[in-house]
Amino acid sequence: MKVSRLTLREIRMDLLTPFETSMGVSTSRRVVLAQVEADGVSGWGEVVAGEDPHFSYETVETAWHVIRDFIWPALKSREWNAAADLWDALAHIRGHNMAKAGVETALWDAEARLKKMPLWKVLGGVRQENSCGVSIGIKKSIDELHLAVDKELLAGYQRIKIKIRPGWDLKPVEALRTKHPSIKLSVDANCAYTLDDAPLFKQLDRFYLMMAEQPLGWNDMYGHAELQKRVETPICLDELITSVPGARLAAEIGAGKIINLKLGRVGGHTVVKRIQSLCATKDIPNWCGGMLETGIGRAHNIALSTLPNFTLPGDVSASKRYWAEDIIEPEVTVTPQGTIKVPHGPGIGFEPKLGLIEKLTARKEVLA
Ligand code: MG
Repeated sequence: MKVSRLTLREIRMDLLTPFETSMGVSTSRRVVLAQVEADGVSGWGEVVAGEDPHFSYETVETAWHVIRDFIWPALKSREWNAAADLWDALAHIRGHNMAKAGVETALWDAEARLKKMPLWKVLGGVRQENSCGVSIGIKKSIDELHLAVDKELLAGYQRIKIKIRPGWDLKPVEALRTKHPSIKLSVDANCAYTLDDAPLFKQLDRFYLMMAEQPLGWNDMYGHAELQKRVETPICLDELITSVPGARLAAEIGAGKIINLKLGRVGGHTVVKRIQSLCATKDIPNWCGGMLETGIGRAHNIALSTLPNFTLPGDVSASKRYWAEDIIEPEVTVTPQGTIKVPHGPGIGFEPKLGLIEKLTARKEVLA
């Protein structure tokens, strides 16, 4: 493949309902889309960097800069046998995984379209239907939380995850467990606690959660290993895992029993494939986390969730939970059984709605 053009667009979209985590409240998103043109086809990727450097150090602005000034010169410089070759060719750029993933996933989409194959098959996926869970933000009251959870259970979702933070942890978990003794329930702290809070996580053990996600700091490998020794609840790592060596270290020292994988956090499909292969040898199941993606990022998440070691329900859910109108067609829908059927069209299997994307575009740069 020879990439002749890379179009960057920043689009702005309002979330249907505000989403609150321990990092703050999101009401709208600025999203960078990458469109690569290679040998007559377009491949699409999404940069999941936030408006602020809260989830990671990357932002919309750093991603734009790194893609334009560093990734694009590398991308245009040669022919690509496969999208799988891009990750190692970008090794001279340290970090900036979200910027890299936006472009890398677009190249994977282009490769699959050129092969006239669904992306999930090109990636090596093994299932045609993915189990879905939902992530529910911090609510103003327990009543409001019950309403939100009841709605998602009724829609069929197989696992409920709630965001927690100090002051919103034991009580909501206890309330949900009392009302729903048998649902798959988990919590996500987004780094809001320290090892001094180990007694709190010990108390959570009695609610037999599926997992407690990223309780401690984004770079606290030792702390997570120490916490996992003290609690029964499996710890799931999110923010902490940004590379293959990081995943290997976490597995070796027992920093968690589950790893959530996100394309943007680790740098794209190639690294996700490597980490999930590694995790399979260590008995660490994976699942796909969400970053409030538009349909483009969501479609890539559906494809990667078909990889063999993605054995737990992910956070990939229906477009209509987030957006009045998604930027792909058809929109992502969830069956009454709480699954997403994997598409069979070429590439990501969904078509970007170009007219809508243009309408939402606040900034555009064509690199050629
Ligand atoms: Mg998380």
